Amino acid sequence: MSATAPLKPRGRLFFANPGPTNIPDSILHAIGHYAVDFNDPEFLKLYEECWEGVLRVMKTTQHMFMYTGSGHAAWEASLVNLLSAGDTMLVLETGNFSESWGRMAADLGIIVQTLPCDWRVGADMAALRAALAADTGHAIKAIGAVHNETSTGMFLPIDEIRAALNATGHPALLLVDTISSLGCIDLQMDEWGVDVVVGGSQKGLMLPTGMAFTGVSQKALDASKDANLPRHYFSWKAMSARKQRSFIGTVPTNQFFGLRESIRLIEEEGLENVFNRHARLAEAVRRCVRHWSGNNGPQLYCANPTRESNSVTAVLMPEGFSAEAVRNTTKDRFNVSLGGGLARLNGKVFRIGHLGDLNEPMILGTLAAIEMAFRINNVPHAAGGVDAAMAYLADA
Ligand SMILES: *Cc1c(COP(=O)(O)O)cnc(C)c1O
Repeated sequence: MSATAPLKPRGRLFFANPGPTNIPDSILHAIGHYAVDFNDPEFLKLYEECWEGVLRVMKTTQHMFMYTGSGHAAWEASLVNLLSAGDTMLVLETGNFSESWGRMAADLGIIVQTLPCDWRVGADMAALRAALAADTGHAIKAIGAVHNETSTGMFLPIDEIRAALNATGHPALLLVDTISSLGCIDLQMDEWGVDVVVGGSQKGLMLPTGMAFTGVSQKALDASKDANLPRHYFSWKAMSARKQRSFIGTVPTNQFFGLRESIRLIEEEGLENVFNRHARLAEAVRRCVRHWSGNNGPQLYCANPTRESNSVTAVLMPEGFSAEAVRNTTKDRFNVSLGGGLARLNGKVFRIGHLGDLNEPMILGTLAAIEMAFRINNVPHAAGGVDAAMAYLADA
């Protein structure tokens, strides 16, 4: 380290994790509200506004339930309200999050069938169609699909899953985890016949962690009446009896002051413009990583160009070089926080979160810190990835 290098990084923490994400100042200020009674008519008005806003982001006019908890709460709620012990759920393998959701289902007494895949290539829709066609007795009650696999930086075409269900006339419920895609990548709950949309507060919606929700179709609500897995805190039936139609116990009122501002920000920009911004910034990141991959450098973990995620990019290190060393350098020297590799990808990949409250200089700053960390750690790469990102952003 040179004599002029700072001992401790200065400036604001530059946060480039794929969840939680940066919280805009206006949301932080909105959340800093005094306590209110969650049955007060004035609060209920705000609550309804938020409710309608989340439905618009999910592109549905159907039902919703909300939970105090992280995304896992909404995962669990979707399973315990819709399935019975011994029911089969088909999980499309995508990466660490599809595996975790599947493990949760197995722990709850659900029989989990997995449609396996190579994590760098993604689920094969023809294989899905074959699996559904083979299930002539309709043992599969639900399909679990992760719209955007945050551990690998790959998305799943949900409309193609719907097409496979329709083509085979299979009645399974379609459960979709949108925790890292809601408000980042287009999702059309009603148009694509999604029965449950699982979402969380701390990714595309730019809120603190601690609130989750499920968009629920009429078909799913009907199916919940026959499901018998034990449930209490997550019971849709109990929630439906409440004025708020959600939450058992105290409603997290402060989150709603933030949620109103989140929806306002998203709709002020325009939902489609938000998607386009994510697509543009993601493409800049990918061009940078593709450039770095010269000289046997780090490369995109996602090896399927039709499935690249617009909210997170996983970068695969060259053999023998540690992703953790790169992350430690960006954090300790430049105050830039990156996501690590999850489960079997630990140490092999680092992840750049490019979702939520984000613009060009934030992305370029992150990429520049990473390129410096490559130099510092003697990681082979083609220098100039940041230039490739700048060239794209200046022109596109
Ligand atoms: C973050 C994430 C989860 C887990 O959500 P928590 O809020 O951490 O419980 C699940 N699925 C995906 C795709 C995620 O990105």
